[in-house]
Amino acid sequence: MKEVTSLTNPIIKDIRALALKKFRDREHLFMTEGLKLVIDAFEAGWTIRTLLYAKAGRGNDAVERLAARTVAAGGLVLVVSEKVLSAVTRRDNPQMVVGVFEQKTLPLDAVRPADADVWVALDRVRDPGNLGTILRTADAVGAKGVILVGDCTDSFSIETVRATMGSIFAVPIVRASPEAFLAWRRGYAGRMVGTHLEGSVDYRTVDYRKGPTLLMMGNEQQGLPENLASACDTLVRIPQAGRADSLNLAVATGVMLYEIRRHALPLEDRS
Ligand code: SAM
Repeated sequence: MKEVTSLTNPIIKDIRALALKKFRDREHLFMTEGLKLVIDAFEAGWTIRTLLYAKAGRGNDAVERLAARTVAAGGLVLVVSEKVLSAVTRRDNPQMVVGVFEQKTLPLDAVRPADADVWVALDRVRDPGNLGTILRTADAVGAKGVILVGDCTDSFSIETVRATMGSIFAVPIVRASPEAFLAWRRGYAGRMVGTHLEGSVDYRTVDYRKGPTLLMMGNEQQGLPENLASACDTLVRIPQAGRADSLNLAVATGVMLYEIRRHALPLEDRS
Protein backbone atom coordinates (compact mmCIF):
# COMPACT_ATOMS: atom_id res chain seq x y z
CA MET A 1 0.00 0.00 0.00
CA LYS A 2 1.25 3.44 -0.84
CA GLU A 3 1.41 5.91 2.06
CA VAL A 4 0.64 9.58 1.45
CA THR A 5 0.94 12.43 3.92
CA SER A 6 1.39 15.41 1.61
CA LEU A 7 -1.46 17.55 0.33
CA THR A 8 0.63 18.31 -2.74
CA ASN A 9 0.61 14.68 -3.86
CA PRO A 10 -0.93 14.79 -7.39
CA ILE A 11 -3.44 11.98 -6.68
CA ILE A 12 -4.63 13.77 -3.54
CA LYS A 13 -4.88 17.03 -5.49
CA ASP A 14 -7.09 15.32 -8.08
CA ILE A 15 -9.31 13.83 -5.37
CA ARG A 16 -9.62 17.22 -3.62
CA ALA A 17 -10.65 18.74 -6.94
CA LEU A 18 -13.73 16.48 -6.85
CA ALA A 19 -15.20 19.00 -4.41
CA LEU A 20 -15.91 21.01 -7.58
CA LYS A 21 -18.71 19.98 -9.92
CA LYS A 22 -16.69 20.73 -13.08
CA PHE A 23 -14.07 18.15 -12.05
CA ARG A 24 -16.69 15.61 -11.00
CA ASP A 25 -18.40 16.04 -14.37
CA ARG A 26 -15.13 15.83 -16.27
CA GLU A 27 -13.87 12.75 -14.44
CA HIS A 28 -17.31 11.14 -13.85
CA LEU A 29 -16.19 10.43 -10.30
CA PHE A 30 -17.46 11.23 -6.80
CA MET A 31 -16.52 10.60 -3.19
CA THR A 32 -18.22 8.76 -0.39
CA GLU A 33 -17.15 8.65 3.26
CA GLY A 34 -17.23 5.90 5.85
CA LEU A 35 -16.57 2.19 5.95
CA LYS A 36 -20.22 1.16 5.82
CA LEU A 37 -21.07 3.31 2.81
CA VAL A 38 -18.01 2.19 0.87
CA ILE A 39 -18.97 -1.45 1.56
CA ASP A 40 -22.59 -0.65 0.51
CA ALA A 41 -21.31 0.84 -2.75
CA PHE A 42 -19.28 -2.31 -3.47
CA GLU A 43 -22.25 -4.53 -2.67
CA ALA A 44 -24.45 -2.50 -5.01
CA GLY A 45 -21.96 -2.97 -7.85
CA TRP A 46 -20.46 0.52 -8.09
CA THR A 47 -16.93 0.74 -9.50
CA ILE A 48 -14.24 1.98 -7.13
CA ARG A 49 -11.25 3.93 -8.42
CA THR A 50 -9.44 4.86 -5.21
CA LEU A 51 -9.72 3.88 -1.58
CA LEU A 52 -8.16 6.16 1.03
CA TYR A 53 -7.88 5.07 4.60
CA ALA A 54 -6.34 6.50 7.75
CA LYS A 55 -3.18 4.99 9.21
CA ALA A 56 -5.34 4.03 12.19
CA GLY A 57 -7.17 1.62 9.87
CA ARG A 58 -4.10 -0.60 9.55
CA GLY A 59 -4.79 -3.95 11.16
CA ASN A 60 -8.56 -3.37 11.08
CA ASP A 61 -10.02 -6.49 9.42
CA ALA A 62 -12.89 -4.74 7.67
CA VAL A 63 -10.65 -2.00 6.29
CA GLU A 64 -8.03 -4.46 5.10
CA ARG A 65 -10.72 -6.60 3.41
CA LEU A 66 -11.97 -3.48 1.65
CA ALA A 67 -8.44 -2.64 0.55
CA ALA A 68 -8.00 -6.16 -0.87
CA ARG A 69 -11.36 -5.87 -2.69
CA THR A 70 -10.32 -2.50 -4.13
CA VAL A 71 -7.07 -3.92 -5.48
CA ALA A 72 -8.92 -6.95 -6.91
CA ALA A 73 -11.31 -4.55 -8.65
CA GLY A 74 -8.38 -2.70 -10.24
CA GLY A 75 -8.53 0.29 -7.89
CA LEU A 76 -5.78 2.12 -6.06
CA VAL A 77 -5.36 2.00 -2.27
CA LEU A 78 -3.68 4.80 -0.35
CA VAL A 79 -2.96 4.92 3.37
CA VAL A 80 -3.15 8.59 4.31
CA SER A 81 -2.65 10.94 7.25
CA GLU A 82 -5.62 12.44 9.09
CA LYS A 83 -4.61 15.81 7.63
CA VAL A 84 -5.10 14.43 4.11
CA LEU A 85 -8.47 12.87 5.00
CA SER A 86 -9.63 16.15 6.55
CA ALA A 87 -8.60 18.11 3.48
CA VAL A 88 -10.24 15.67 1.07
CA THR A 89 -13.55 15.55 2.97
CA ARG A 90 -13.41 19.14 4.30
CA ARG A 91 -14.17 17.88 7.78
CA ASP A 92 -12.36 18.32 11.08
CA ASN A 93 -13.14 14.79 12.22
CA PRO A 94 -13.05 12.76 9.02
CA GLN A 95 -14.20 9.17 8.72
CA MET A 96 -11.47 6.55 8.58
CA VAL A 97 -12.29 5.52 5.00
CA VAL A 98 -13.08 7.43 1.80
CA GLY A 99 -13.94 5.81 -1.52
CA VAL A 100 -13.77 7.45 -4.94
CA PHE A 101 -16.32 5.83 -7.25
CA GLU A 102 -17.41 6.17 -10.86
CA GLN A 103 -20.68 8.05 -11.32
CA LYS A 104 -23.66 6.18 -12.71
CA THR A 105 -26.88 7.58 -14.19
CA LEU A 106 -29.60 6.04 -16.36
CA PRO A 107 -30.87 7.40 -19.69
CA LEU A 108 -34.47 8.62 -19.73
CA ASP A 109 -35.59 5.83 -22.03
CA ALA A 110 -34.66 3.30 -19.32
CA VAL A 111 -37.67 4.60 -17.35
CA ARG A 112 -40.58 2.46 -18.44
CA PRO A 113 -43.97 2.38 -16.75
CA ALA A 114 -44.70 -1.00 -15.17
CA ASP A 115 -47.08 -2.36 -12.52
CA ALA A 116 -47.49 0.13 -9.68
CA ASP A 117 -43.95 1.51 -10.01
CA VAL A 118 -43.26 4.96 -8.64
CA TRP A 119 -40.73 7.40 -10.07
CA VAL A 120 -40.09 10.89 -8.73
CA ALA A 121 -39.32 13.81 -11.03
CA LEU A 122 -37.74 16.93 -9.51
CA ASP A 123 -37.88 20.25 -11.29
CA ARG A 124 -34.61 22.23 -10.81
CA VAL A 125 -34.02 21.07 -7.21
CA ARG A 126 -31.40 23.43 -5.82
CA ASP A 127 -30.64 22.30 -2.31
CA PRO A 128 -28.25 19.32 -1.85
CA GLY A 129 -29.86 18.51 1.52
CA ASN A 130 -33.29 18.34 -0.12
CA LEU A 131 -32.02 16.15 -2.96
CA GLY A 132 -30.19 13.79 -0.60
CA THR A 133 -33.21 13.53 1.68
CA ILE A 134 -35.49 12.80 -1.29
CA LEU A 135 -33.16 10.07 -2.57
CA ARG A 136 -33.13 8.53 0.92
CA THR A 137 -36.93 8.71 1.15
CA ALA A 138 -37.36 7.30 -2.37
CA ASP A 139 -35.18 4.39 -1.27
CA ALA A 140 -37.17 3.91 1.94
CA VAL A 141 -40.53 3.66 0.15
CA GLY A 142 -39.24 1.46 -2.67
CA ALA A 143 -39.56 4.04 -5.47
CA LYS A 144 -37.83 2.99 -8.69
CA GLY A 145 -35.74 6.12 -9.13
CA VAL A 146 -35.49 9.88 -9.39
CA ILE A 147 -35.49 12.00 -12.56
CA LEU A 148 -33.67 15.33 -12.27
CA VAL A 149 -35.29 17.78 -14.67
CA GLY A 150 -33.43 20.90 -15.76
CA ASP A 151 -30.65 22.62 -13.87
CA CYS A 152 -30.53 20.66 -10.59
CA THR A 153 -27.98 20.55 -7.79
CA ASP A 154 -25.44 17.77 -8.36
CA SER A 155 -26.55 14.38 -7.06
CA PHE A 156 -22.85 13.46 -6.68
CA SER A 157 -21.71 16.41 -4.56
CA ILE A 158 -20.34 15.46 -1.17
CA GLU A 159 -23.25 17.27 0.55
CA THR A 160 -25.90 15.37 -1.43
CA VAL A 161 -24.13 12.04 -1.03
CA ARG A 162 -23.86 12.61 2.74
CA ALA A 163 -27.56 13.46 3.01
CA THR A 164 -28.53 10.25 1.19
CA MET A 165 -26.93 8.16 3.96
CA GLY A 166 -26.06 5.51 1.36
CA SER A 167 -29.27 5.61 -0.69
CA ILE A 168 -27.28 7.19 -3.55
CA PHE A 169 -26.11 3.63 -4.22
CA ALA A 170 -29.63 2.18 -4.26
CA VAL A 171 -31.75 4.67 -6.19
CA PRO A 172 -31.26 5.05 -9.96
CA ILE A 173 -30.87 8.65 -11.12
CA VAL A 174 -31.81 10.07 -14.50
CA ARG A 175 -30.93 13.57 -15.74
CA ALA A 176 -32.97 15.29 -18.42
CA SER A 177 -33.53 18.73 -19.88
CA PRO A 178 -37.15 19.97 -19.58
CA GLU A 179 -37.55 19.54 -23.35
CA ALA A 180 -36.30 15.93 -23.33
CA PHE A 181 -38.41 15.16 -20.27
CA LEU A 182 -41.59 16.59 -21.84
CA ALA A 183 -40.96 14.70 -25.09
CA TRP A 184 -40.43 11.46 -23.15
CA ARG A 185 -43.50 12.13 -21.00
CA ARG A 186 -45.73 12.16 -24.12
CA GLY A 187 -44.91 8.46 -24.55
CA TYR A 188 -45.14 7.59 -20.85
CA ALA A 189 -48.22 5.45 -20.30
CA GLY A 190 -48.45 5.91 -16.51
CA ARG A 191 -50.12 8.66 -14.52
CA MET A 192 -48.19 11.87 -13.85
CA VAL A 193 -49.22 13.48 -10.58
CA GLY A 194 -47.94 17.01 -10.01
CA THR A 195 -47.88 18.75 -6.64
CA HIS A 196 -48.91 22.38 -6.72
CA LEU A 197 -49.98 25.01 -4.22
CA GLU A 198 -52.90 25.78 -6.59
CA GLY A 199 -53.77 22.08 -7.03
CA SER A 200 -57.52 21.45 -6.74
CA VAL A 201 -57.29 17.75 -5.77
CA ASP A 202 -56.64 16.55 -2.22
CA TYR A 203 -53.54 14.29 -2.49
CA ARG A 204 -55.30 11.66 -0.32
CA THR A 205 -58.19 11.15 -2.73
CA VAL A 206 -56.22 9.68 -5.65
CA ASP A 207 -56.13 5.87 -5.99
CA TYR A 208 -52.41 5.30 -6.47
CA ARG A 209 -52.78 1.52 -6.69
CA LYS A 210 -53.98 1.79 -10.28
CA GLY A 211 -50.86 1.57 -12.41
CA PRO A 212 -47.53 3.35 -12.36
CA THR A 213 -47.14 6.85 -10.94
CA LEU A 214 -44.72 9.58 -11.86
CA LEU A 215 -44.67 12.12 -9.03
CA MET A 216 -43.65 15.62 -10.18
CA MET A 217 -42.28 18.05 -7.58
CA GLY A 218 -41.60 21.75 -8.15
CA ASN A 219 -38.57 23.94 -7.53
CA GLU A 220 -38.02 25.23 -3.97
CA GLN A 221 -38.49 28.91 -4.87
CA GLN A 222 -40.71 28.97 -7.92
CA GLY A 223 -42.78 25.80 -7.75
CA LEU A 224 -43.73 23.97 -10.97
CA PRO A 225 -43.56 26.04 -14.17
CA GLU A 226 -46.57 26.05 -16.49
CA ASN A 227 -45.08 23.64 -19.09
CA LEU A 228 -44.45 20.93 -16.45
CA ALA A 229 -47.70 21.56 -14.57
CA SER A 230 -49.78 21.25 -17.74
CA ALA A 231 -48.06 17.95 -18.60
CA CYS A 232 -49.49 16.41 -15.39
CA ASP A 233 -52.70 14.36 -15.39
CA THR A 234 -53.60 15.66 -11.93
CA LEU A 235 -52.36 18.53 -9.78
CA VAL A 236 -52.72 17.64 -6.11
CA ARG A 237 -52.33 19.76 -3.00
CA ILE A 238 -51.38 18.81 0.54
CA PRO A 239 -53.69 20.74 2.87
CA GLN A 240 -52.04 23.06 5.37
CA ALA A 241 -53.09 24.95 8.47
CA GLY A 242 -51.10 27.76 10.05
CA ARG A 243 -48.98 30.47 8.54
CA ALA A 244 -46.51 28.58 6.33
CA ASP A 245 -47.02 29.25 2.60
CA SER A 246 -45.81 25.81 1.64
CA LEU A 247 -44.04 22.71 2.88
CA ASN A 248 -40.33 22.16 2.41
CA LEU A 249 -39.75 20.29 -0.87
CA ALA A 250 -38.25 17.18 0.77
CA VAL A 251 -41.04 17.06 3.37
CA ALA A 252 -43.74 17.42 0.68
CA THR A 253 -42.06 14.65 -1.35
CA GLY A 254 -41.99 12.41 1.74
CA VAL A 255 -45.67 13.03 2.47
CA MET A 256 -46.56 12.24 -1.16
CA LEU A 257 -44.38 9.14 -1.42
CA TYR A 258 -45.79 7.62 1.75
CA GLU A 259 -49.34 8.21 0.49
CA ILE A 260 -48.59 6.79 -2.96
CA ARG A 261 -46.88 3.72 -1.50
CA ARG A 262 -49.20 3.32 1.49
CA HIS A 263 -50.76 0.10 0.14
CA ALA A 264 -47.35 -1.45 -0.52
CA LEU A 265 -45.76 -0.78 2.87
CA PRO A 266 -47.24 -2.92 5.64
CA LEU A 267 -45.37 -2.90 8.92
CA GLU A 268 -43.38 -6.11 9.13
CA ASP A 269 -44.66 -8.57 11.68
CA ARG A 270 -41.73 -8.84 14.10
CA SER A 271 -43.52 -11.06 16.64
N1 SAM B 1 -43.11 29.36 -3.63
C1 SAM B 1 -43.20 28.06 -4.20
C2 SAM B 1 -44.49 27.88 -4.99
O1 SAM B 1 -45.13 28.89 -5.23
O2 SAM B 1 -44.82 26.80 -5.43
C3 SAM B 1 -43.09 27.04 -3.09
C4 SAM B 1 -42.45 25.82 -3.55
S1 SAM B 1 -42.42 24.53 -2.36
C5 SAM B 1 -41.24 25.06 -1.24
C6 SAM B 1 -41.58 23.30 -3.29
C7 SAM B 1 -42.47 22.26 -3.88
O3 SAM B 1 -42.97 21.41 -2.86
C8 SAM B 1 -43.69 22.75 -4.63
O4 SAM B 1 -43.41 23.15 -5.95
C9 SAM B 1 -44.57 21.51 -4.58
O5 SAM B 1 -44.11 20.59 -5.54
C10 SAM B 1 -44.28 20.97 -3.21
N2 SAM B 1 -45.20 21.46 -2.16
C11 SAM B 1 -44.89 22.10 -1.04
N3 SAM B 1 -45.98 22.31 -0.29
C12 SAM B 1 -47.03 21.77 -0.96
C13 SAM B 1 -48.42 21.66 -0.71
N4 SAM B 1 -48.99 22.13 0.40
N5 SAM B 1 -49.19 21.04 -1.63
C14 SAM B 1 -48.64 20.54 -2.78
N6 SAM B 1 -47.33 20.62 -3.07
C15 SAM B 1 -46.53 21.24 -2.17
